[in-house]
Amino acid sequence: MYVNPASLRRAAERRVIRLLMAGSARSRAELARRSGISAVTVGKTVDHLVSAGLLRELERATKPPRRHGKTMMGRPPRLVTLEAVTPRFFAIELGVRETRVATLPVAGPTDSMWRKSLKTPRTPNTFIARLGHACQTARIEQPWGILVSVPGVVNERENRILYSPNLHWTEGRSLLAKIGTLLGAGLCAVQEIRALALGCLARAEHDDSFILADFGDGVGSAVMSHGRLLEGPLPLTGEIGHTPVPGNTRACGCGGTGCLETLLSRRGLLQTHREQTGSADADWDSFIQHSRNQPLKPWLRRAIDAAATVVAGAVNVIGVRRVVLTGELIELGDAVVERFRKGINAAALWGRFGEVECRGAPRRRFLGLSIAAIQRILLPELPHRPGSGSNSNGA
Ligand SMILES: [Zn+2]
Repeated sequence: MYVNPASLRRAAERRVIRLLMAGSARSRAELARRSGISAVTVGKTVDHLVSAGLLRELERATKPPRRHGKTMMGRPPRLVTLEAVTPRFFAIELGVRETRVATLPVAGPTDSMWRKSLKTPRTPNTFIARLGHACQTARIEQPWGILVSVPGVVNERENRILYSPNLHWTEGRSLLAKIGTLLGAGLCAVQEIRALALGCLARAEHDDSFILADFGDGVGSAVMSHGRLLEGPLPLTGEIGHTPVPGNTRACGCGGTGCLETLLSRRGLLQTHREQTGSADADWDSFIQHSRNQPLKPWLRRAIDAAATVVAGAVNVIGVRRVVLTGELIELGDAVVERFRKGINAAALWGRFGEVECRGAPRRRFLGLSIAAIQRILLPELPHRPGSGSNSNGA
């Protein structure tokens, strides 16, 4: 089989970056050991990535290294990290209620990074005007790219928002094109749940296959399989929120009836809470206070069980044994995650042989966008054969 040497080099570069994303600074020898790539190749790869500005070499430690309590002979190894100082990318989280924008170095979000947030406007022109205003104080010279996380159904390859039930005015190509023109760089759209899955991947060196299910303004999921986001022929993967739940008669924004999203989105949860308590003006904060760390109400148990069955169906079809839950729903406490874990294990075939792991995690969307920057802008996958096209966004 023909293997393009350039694509092997690229695979080594992506592997090194992935190891550095997961943790702290590492020496070349450590990177070689953890990646299984030869020390010579790792050395060349690191040198190349340092000269390209993706990695930074740390000053040599002043103390000689110690191993097993003994001082080692020779010079301490030089450690490398991802470049975490110079802002290179604009990152934008386009949200239903709030939009956040930041400048990111290659390493992803840092405590000291520039960031702003704005209430999401209702028209493209107002959005561009407010974004331009917000970005006036951003100090970034010749940005390497713009990453935008967007809700809804997105064609990432064409930077086109196909359908956005909560933000119809963003649909089409023109908003994203205008953002690119405004900020003066190439733009890369990432569906918002897929951005979360990339952020989750970045922090887990060995955990590269999972389903991430997010419960927020909408309900959706993304599938990570061997470090790659699952791609389907349609731009509609992971749409668990639009699976109907028997007995649920609520109308959904998608035009369907009884979708899971109408029960477990922020709006759906609040609607049931209001119906159950008779307090029509209860807001989200009062719902959280009322429910946090309390035994789960019967209606919430039923809704979670329905969601767990849908997720278990995905587990059965895709063949992964880890589920990560993110979003506002898990703010209600550990009992939510535990209920999911039991429900998924009761319904997934893997639950008969082993355990489907289920855990809650914070949303790391900016981190996911920085992974997208590496995978799609800095180190895109190269064709494996002469003449074949690049075919994936995966790592
Ligand atoms: Zn729906």
